[in-house]
Amino acid sequence: MRIVLLGAPGSGKGTQSKLLVEKYKIPQISTGDLLRAAVAAGTELGKRAKAAMDQGQLVSDEVVLGMIQDRLSQPDAKNGFILDGFPRNNPQAQALDSLLARLGQPLQLALLVDVNTEILLKRLTGRRTCAKCGQMYNIYFQPPKMPGRCDKCGGELQQRSDDNEETIRKRLEIYEQQTAPLITYYKSQNKLRRVVGEGDVQEIFRTVVAIIEGHIHPLATLRPAMAAPAPVKPKSAPVKPQALSPARNVAASQNTAAPKKAAPKKKAVAKKAAPKKAAPKKAAPKKKSALKKAAVKKVAPKKKAVAKKAAPKKAAPKKKSALKKAAVKKVAPKKKAAPKKKAGRGRR
Ligand code: AMP
Repeated sequence: MRIVLLGAPGSGKGTQSKLLVEKYKIPQISTGDLLRAAVAAGTELGKRAKAAMDQGQLVSDEVVLGMIQDRLSQPDAKNGFILDGFPRNNPQAQALDSLLARLGQPLQLALLVDVNTEILLKRLTGRRTCAKCGQMYNIYFQPPKMPGRCDKCGGELQQRSDDNEETIRKRLEIYEQQTAPLITYYKSQNKLRRVVGEGDVQEIFRTVVAIIEGHIHPLATLRPAMAAPAPVKPKSAPVKPQALSPARNVAASQNTAAPKKAAPKKKAVAKKAAPKKAAPKKAAPKKKSALKKAAVKKVAPKKKAVAKKAAPKKAAPKKKSALKKAAVKKVAPKKKAAPKKKAGRGRR
């Protein structure tokens, strides 16, 4: 699995990344963490990065790209990786694409963790980390029992130096200007999916997993150790919407088109089926209803064709209603996408 987690500072990319690391046993590569480690170690790179970080600015592409190249070439990244906080602008995204193309391992998914700006501000200004054990708290959402002290080890709780309000505002501004355009970048590659990163962490994670497993070939790429040598065909697309439980996330995750590979197959099946059946009357209304919501043309014919071949009359109505749902979901995100372009508005 080769995946980028996109999202504003405080969106919870790091939290979701850590859960993904546990589940899929692939490394999280966070440029923020790598840079903070370099600063803490007092390396030359760390010294160069610190000033920019303290001001909420991006560290130079040259520094970050060098770091990423080194990290991706390490053996543990061979089976996949989760990039967290990288890329952060168009040049970085292009450089990443070139690097992965050279390695013959193109990116598979860019997952946007989408969170309302007000929540982001509280998450960032309220964030505290135990200096001893690294346990994280939030004075608004998850306060420690004793202010300033870690519940687990009694260590001192510290605030990240770039989590003060002025720097946070700068970081959010930079995100809006430089990183948010990557949403369009990955959308145009048909790699973007979206999850609403608000509410229960585990619930968000379940949605994240459902998106990943619906988008990326589940056996061959997610669990290489378990995968059969021969490529296994992905499971049927219609399972996806059911797997996405939280309603908002279901709608949000449909923001992008279904995997490209699925579409041509569906079309081809539909074309073959049509002439054989000599335009049965029942088929025509189905087509109309399936198409009326637009944007689902490719999905509709496949389901119909499958229904015709198998000829289970009972199955047909179910598929119809599923198609309608899918149609609504496919259409909805376009409406959602509009406000995102307006800088500084609620959801990113
Ligand atoms: P993060 O922990 O991802 O919020 O990153 C903390 C800070 O590290 C950012 O505000 C930037 O100054 C710097 N940083 C992290 N990742 C990058 C990147 N990909 N490009 C440039 N600067 C970065």
